[in-house]
Amino acid sequence: MKYISTRGASPEANFDTVLRKALAPDGGLYLPKSWPGPRDWRAMKGASFPEIAAEVLHLFAGDEMSREEAGRLTEEAFATFRHPDVTPVVDLGGEKVMELFHGPTLAFKDVAMQLIARLFERSLEKSGGAMTVVVATSGDTGGAAVSALANREHLSICALHPHERISGVQRRFMTTSGAPNVLNLAVEGTFDDCQAIVKELFADRDFAAEVSLGGVNSINWARITAQVSYYIWACLAVEGDDIHFSVPTGNFGDVFAGWVAKKLGAPVGKLIIAVNENDILDRALRVGIYEKRGVLPTSSPSMDIEIASNFERAIFEASGRNAEMTADLMACLRETDRFRLSKELRAELAKDFVSYKAGEPEVRAVMAVFAAHYGTLLDPHTAIGIHGARRAREDALEGPIVTLATAHPAKFPEAVAAATGKTPDLPVSSEQLFSQDEVFSVVPSDTAAVKEALRGLK
Ligand SMILES: *Cc1c(COP(=O)(O)O)cnc(C)c1O
Repeated sequence: MKYISTRGASPEANFDTVLRKALAPDGGLYLPKSWPGPRDWRAMKGASFPEIAAEVLHLFAGDEMSREEAGRLTEEAFATFRHPDVTPVVDLGGEKVMELFHGPTLAFKDVAMQLIARLFERSLEKSGGAMTVVVATSGDTGGAAVSALANREHLSICALHPHERISGVQRRFMTTSGAPNVLNLAVEGTFDDCQAIVKELFADRDFAAEVSLGGVNSINWARITAQVSYYIWACLAVEGDDIHFSVPTGNFGDVFAGWVAKKLGAPVGKLIIAVNENDILDRALRVGIYEKRGVLPTSSPSMDIEIASNFERAIFEASGRNAEMTADLMACLRETDRFRLSKELRAELAKDFVSYKAGEPEVRAVMAVFAAHYGTLLDPHTAIGIHGARRAREDALEGPIVTLATAHPAKFPEAVAAATGKTPDLPVSSEQLFSQDEVFSVVPSDTAAVKEALRGLK
């Protein structure tokens, strides 16, 4: 399998390169050079989640990984989940909900991170050497990455979070691993400051080479392939020829994985882009103008993003894989903070995607109704997905809708308690979070200070 960049000016790459270098040299994102033909996934009915994930991984790694090896990796990765079905589809208050939060850090990012950690380890075992993974996190990504990479032989992990701006549960998932290869830096600044520092680290090529920097953020293609599996899994669990999904969306990685599942022949209908007050995608689809306006903090912090990086992949596909147009729109965004979607592009996107926005009162209302009527606590991200599903049904979307539950309510106890008056319990396996010591260093919002700390880790 060969990969190309959405901006058309990078050499073709293989799966291993795409895994290690999430961003193409021309600044674009990688996609398969040609899509594998659609399959009849129904032939896999009854297969386990790891088996489906292995099929998908084998498909995208091509001859770089045997089906047997893919099977071993996915078995191991998803054995870390607390539920035997890994990502069960359940009925909740008349809604179909796929629970993606049974992994070690109670958020859907565990699905991809557990697999990608093993892919990195395998890649480094083959090539020799070591890698230092650096992530900026507003909460969930850091915990999922630390949990997946702690104590690995060839890898170390440095997570940068904004000091005193993430929840205690989120922080403890990063800071209580006790592993020698984990470095937690609490940056005296915002999430944007953390992200800016990480960008500068990668931009300093000498430094990046010195400590063998690697990244696991949501533009990494390998992360998306891991997420494709649960859409196919849900299509096998739910009867129907047109199964819609409502996806709480930030960076567009998760919902794009749904589009890929459809491309591979899974009976996916519409993909509902469910957003919070950071509604750049909703505005782009409804009005045709994709425009940065700054980030508003909400009760669903993992969706508080200014631009949705993976949307570039959707634009590339919707334009008939027009790399020149994609590169032009991205340059326009860089220079003017906005771009316009043509009528043709909007019509093409509308074939697969619809969008709904939930304001804070609506999020609270969904959480309150589910707690009062069904005795179920939803986390705020999942509530935004449910809101999207209900709105789509009001707008006459027919057929089953599966909402992705992207986080366990115990990960956002303050928001859940404020909306419902109830405090969610942590699953038993997470109780140790509060009995273990935290390890992290507070650093100024300064790239030189972070470099110093990283050199110490190596
Ligand atoms: C990351 C995250 C999202 C958004 O996923 P994207 O792939 O960025 O769209 C939604 N919910 C939760 C809980 C998350 O951690």
